[in-house]
Amino acid sequence: MPTYHYRCKNCGYDFTLAQSFSDDPITVCPQCKQEQVHKVYSVAGVTFKGSGFYHTDSGSGASH
Ligand SMILES: [Zn+2]
Repeated sequence: MPTYHYRCKNCGYDFTLAQSFSDDPITVCPQCKQEQVHKVYSVAGVTFKGSGFYHTDSGSGASH
C-alpha cells in the first residue's frame, strides 16, 4: 500500500497516510478541518532499498 504525504496550507499540519490506489485523496485537514490539504510529492526519507524491489517472476518454464 503506497504512503502519501500531505500538508495543510492553513495550519501547516504535516502527515502521511497509507492509502490504496482506489482511495480518494485527502482534502480536509484532520487537525483544523479546513479544505486546505494538498499532496506532497517529494517525501524526504523514503528510500527504496535496491534488492527485491523489482521482482520478476514472470514464469520461465512454469508448469501449470
Ligand atoms: Zn490544517
